[in-house]
Amino acid sequence: MAQKIPLVDLKAQYAAIQQDIDTAIQQVIGSTAFIMGPEVRSFEEAFATFCGSPYCVGVASGTAALELVLRAGGVGPDHEVITAAHTFIATAEAISAVGARPVFVDIDPRTYNLDPDAVAAAVTPATRAILPVHIYGQPADMDRINAIAKTHGLLVVEDAAQAHGATWNGHCAGTLGDAACFSFYPGKNLGAYGDAGAVTTADARLAEQVRLLRNHGRHSKYLHEMKGFGERMDTLQAAVLLAKLRHLQRWTAARRRLAARYTEQLASLELETPYVDARANPAWHLYVIRTPQREALQTFLQERGIGVGVHYPVPLHLQPAYTDLGYRRGELPVTEAVADTCLSLPLFPEMTDAQQDYVVEQIRLFLEG
Ligand SMILES: *Cc1c(COP(=O)(O)O)cnc(C)c1O
Repeated sequence: MAQKIPLVDLKAQYAAIQQDIDTAIQQVIGSTAFIMGPEVRSFEEAFATFCGSPYCVGVASGTAALELVLRAGGVGPDHEVITAAHTFIATAEAISAVGARPVFVDIDPRTYNLDPDAVAAAVTPATRAILPVHIYGQPADMDRINAIAKTHGLLVVEDAAQAHGATWNGHCAGTLGDAACFSFYPGKNLGAYGDAGAVTTADARLAEQVRLLRNHGRHSKYLHEMKGFGERMDTLQAAVLLAKLRHLQRWTAARRRLAARYTEQLASLELETPYVDARANPAWHLYVIRTPQREALQTFLQERGIGVGVHYPVPLHLQPAYTDLGYRRGELPVTEAVADTCLSLPLFPEMTDAQQDYVVEQIRLFLEG
């Protein structure tokens, strides 16, 4: 009988830490401090320490983190923000939400992250920010991106939604630009039991602005310094995240070991395994291979109980939601080629070697059979 191996296994993770999670949730329910309870600040402090960032502000989602930090950074109408089209749509939606224009540029064919040459070529007088995505958990080339930003006086906001604990030159995602945005969507490397997100930054003013914006522009209950939003992190989610954060380093180590094991075992097969920049230590949110037979391999593995995914099948410049920007197929050839050939294999910290061996064996059967 075919095994069942999901793309991510949140049940296995809960089973391993159930006592901690249940205690944390009960504590919040008992206190009834559901909004901005003490766990929110405790999580912010713990996550700031984890990243090595001076400030962390908890918000309602990764999407909210992106939108609020762009607002706090003064990005608005008539501004352009350079970003990737090979990402989840929230990256660009946040740019649109503040009234700015996403400018999509192509990616590096090896890392699938923003191509710094393409970024440099896309800068105009209207450019206000660069929004690199650390796709699949590997940091973008922050050396070049920060250098370009410095030359032109641009804000750099990391989309670190997939990169908790990833490093670049030994520094954690979350400390590599002016500010960074994290998602704690349940399936992310650090996942809440619902929506949650955070902004990290070393800029006290930016942190303070995000703090105000997330909570109706206020410091005290009915005095509002500015027009803000209801985008706070729930206390319940903060409690879950605080309990889980204690395990994140170990989980990341497990992902790294499994990723190395995939790369080793798949090396002799006719497909492309992930390339890792020498300056990067990825967090391996996803392990993504490439093959021109993507559709057939995807079906073959699914029929054998293996949960595979495609991240992402339609690049943002070709999404119906973004036809107004006027992009055409062919304008971002690397992005389009990756979208057509990428396949995400099961990867989660609790995955056993036997489960992984089964995945590899089925891929081998497909390619050699
Ligand atoms: C998950 C994700 C987001 C959005 O985060 P949410 O918490 O779901 O709002 C943004 N960018 C990227 C790259 C993501 O993977």
